[in-house]
Amino acid sequence: MARSVLLLYTGGTIGMVADPEGRGLMPLDFNHLQAQVPELNRLELNIAYEAFEPPVDSSDISIALWQHIARRIEANYTHYDGFVVLHGTDTMAYTASALSFMLRGLAKPVILTGSQLPIGVLRTDGRENLITAIQLAALEKRGGAYVQEVAVYFGSSLFRGNRTHKYSAEDLNAFHSPNLSPLAEAGIHLQFRNDLLLRTDERSTLNVHDRMDDAVAVLTLFPGIGERVVRQVCRTDGLRGLVLHTFGSGNGPTAPWFIDALREARAAGVEIVNVTQCSSGFVEQGRYATSSAFTDLGIVPGGDMTLEAAVTKLMHVLAYTDDHQALARTMMVSLAGELTTYSSLV
Ligand code: ASP
Repeated sequence: MARSVLLLYTGGTIGMVADPEGRGLMPLDFNHLQAQVPELNRLELNIAYEAFEPPVDSSDISIALWQHIARRIEANYTHYDGFVVLHGTDTMAYTASALSFMLRGLAKPVILTGSQLPIGVLRTDGRENLITAIQLAALEKRGGAYVQEVAVYFGSSLFRGNRTHKYSAEDLNAFHSPNLSPLAEAGIHLQFRNDLLLRTDERSTLNVHDRMDDAVAVLTLFPGIGERVVRQVCRTDGLRGLVLHTFGSGNGPTAPWFIDALREARAAGVEIVNVTQCSSGFVEQGRYATSSAFTDLGIVPGGDMTLEAAVTKLMHVLAYTDDHQALARTMMVSLAGELTTYSSLV
């Protein structure tokens, strides 16, 4: 029997066409999509299509829409072999990260893709991204799914979704995965790094844990950052989580007022996670004097997580616990392959 894939169009450039009356870009329906990409009919797959009503630019994606995507996957989980989520590129790394935490026990592929140029445009990158993403979602290995995780397919590479970052607003290869090699490369052949793919027991059941707490902020440090600004962020009414976006291997200013602002936030119960502004490498608290106070304050080192993964994971974990030790432990281990656990550092 032909394998089946559910295509979920959330919005974004990939599904846009020029409005014939010149009012900008309009969303495509599935018939138009098939007309633009006739190769879809040659895939010998059962492809079903669902679209957000209305589609959203990914700058408008929200917790509610992440939950909606997760619930649509859950509702259709047993009916399809794989899922392709068509999404705007701007926040795709956040959505991929959020879904990877929500979809516990996932044993089927959820491949996010999009494009830099609309699918109806001559030089579009959307056609290849779409076709290969669908093929990846349908791929089987001994009767089961080849990919069993949330991934992003873009510009010939398949990446673990919660490792991705959109680094280019121009390049057709808009994504990279700075701390994990691509899971697969699509050249003449689809070449997989089988050693990197997450494996889940085929019989495991999908459990959607879709709660997210939005009381999270990001504080990006820069030399010269003002005390008033830092204190204001740390004292935000209702704040429960703060991602501290630090320098190098997790460093920040040693000024007493800065440490004091963080101490005050911790005393008020704010959970703080330290991730680096460097695009690769990891946080090592205590390596320099400029981060040793962080450990004493109970600031959680975020390892080599991307900012996107750290923010969505903190939103997710905060929704399930208010215990500091439990939160710290969960933040520091991999839930869905989002962070590298180093067994020894030499
Ligand atoms: N602004 C668009 C979005 O993220 C860009 C894209 O689709 O790639 O929805």
